[in-house]
Amino acid sequence: MPTPNIVVLGTGMAGFGAAHRLHAEGIVPVMYDKNAYYGGHTASFRYETGFLFDVGPHISFTKDTRIQDLFADSVDQRFETIQIHLNNYWRGYWPLHPVQLHLHGMPEDLIVKVISDFVEARQLPEESPKNYADWLYASFGRTFAESFPMQYTRKYHLTSAENMSTDWLGPRIYRPSLEEVLRGAISASAPHVHYITHFRYPSDGGFMCYLKKFMPMGNIKLNHQLVSIDPRARELKFANGLVTSYDSLVSSVPLPDLIRMIQGAPSDVVDASRRLSCSTCVLVNIGVNREDISSAHMTYFYDEDICFTRLGFPHLLSAKNAPPGTGSIQAEVYFSDKYKPLTGKAEDWIEPVIRDLRKCGLLREEDQVLSRKAMLLPYANIIFDLERTQALKTVHAYLDDLGIAYCGRYGDWGYMWTDESFKSGELAAERALSGAVVSK
Ligand SMILES: Cc1cc2nc3c(=O)[nH]c(=O)nc-3n(C[C@H](O)[C@H](O)[C@H](O)COP(=O)(O)OP(=O)(O)OC[C@H]3O[C@@H](n4cnc5c(N)ncnc54)[C@H](O)[C@@H]3O)c2cc1C
Repeated sequence: MPTPNIVVLGTGMAGFGAAHRLHAEGIVPVMYDKNAYYGGHTASFRYETGFLFDVGPHISFTKDTRIQDLFADSVDQRFETIQIHLNNYWRGYWPLHPVQLHLHGMPEDLIVKVISDFVEARQLPEESPKNYADWLYASFGRTFAESFPMQYTRKYHLTSAENMSTDWLGPRIYRPSLEEVLRGAISASAPHVHYITHFRYPSDGGFMCYLKKFMPMGNIKLNHQLVSIDPRARELKFANGLVTSYDSLVSSVPLPDLIRMIQGAPSDVVDASRRLSCSTCVLVNIGVNREDISSAHMTYFYDEDICFTRLGFPHLLSAKNAPPGTGSIQAEVYFSDKYKPLTGKAEDWIEPVIRDLRKCGLLREEDQVLSRKAMLLPYANIIFDLERTQALKTVHAYLDDLGIAYCGRYGDWGYMWTDESFKSGELAAERALSGAVVSK
């Protein structure tokens, strides 16, 4: 039986998940990517200044031992296992994460209101929440909900909690008991509770090294931006002029872009794809002449007058991520075409980020900034607004009819981590294998 010509669009975790599954069937798919580098959101870049940055803070906290083993094998067992340390910044205070369990040291009036509202909320009859705001009020009470997660929602998801569903939550937000809240308010040493306790990170070369062993499993074609799909002729066109055919297609291309490229896509499907919202992220990558900038691996920011939503400190993930004696900071500043469009260039955010790093005291006057660059991620986090579920159903049903196997964070259009994107690619490869029509 001739081998089916299965084409994979994208060389991120999902694309390589697909290649890995096809490899088990003896198939080496052609993998196209618009970028000049492979890895998508899991790429890593080392600047001439010696600082290494991933495309957004990336750590591996998968509990799936098969994926743990695959990633470990990819880096020849050379990875760090690190106990996670997360904190928050709120109006000059630095509580540990999650804040609701670490209120100790916060303003007394706030603590009293948080606890009394929490007790009141827990006495109300349980009702199924209509949206994320309902869920927050019921879980934490009004004062905490409005001061912390609702503030963060506006900075991270760029819309209000009232306009969001709850189907993305999973274990992401911890619901504490009264005893835990009280303990955290009374004592500075309340236990750390988070859905991640430890994580792994490659010892050298950045997160991208987790893809190393999968590279030979695909015939990778970089600088190939797909511009059009003819689903009846099973033909792909690229911006560089290449036209090629396929028996089966696996795609990790973001759904709004994919639908726009499909010839003859019905208008209701195109409209639905336009209703899918995603955030855009400007990453500002800073190198500093000092390593004791932070003890936390990541810090969450709630205040509106601080432009970034989250900070990561790559030099704490691996000593090889920064020159000896230096430290690094990666700031995430969020936008969304629908809710808060980015105007201007990513580079315009370098100075505001440095200004706000000084404002919150992480950068001192005497610190030297050794490296400063910005990166733009047009697609960052899926926004679970109230339009998502219905619009996604329409788009996925159409792709299912065409037999296009979508996968990954931007194909499944979910809140997926690297392990989940990889496995989604594997599953898409299986669908492609079962639907492949072998050309003569
Ligand atoms: C800021 C941020 C932080 C994150 N942190 C973590 C973390 O700590 N741990 C974790 O496990 N996960 C994390 N994630 C999630 C993780 O990045 C994703 O789950 C995963 O990388 C998605 O892989 P993917 O292959 O689905 O998508 P992508 O990596 O985006 O791959 C899609 C590929 O398709 C290519 N493509 C797009 N359009 C075209 C076209 N027209 N023609 C050709 N090629 C095209 C792109 O260039 C890209 O390479 C984070 C994500 C973000 C945004």
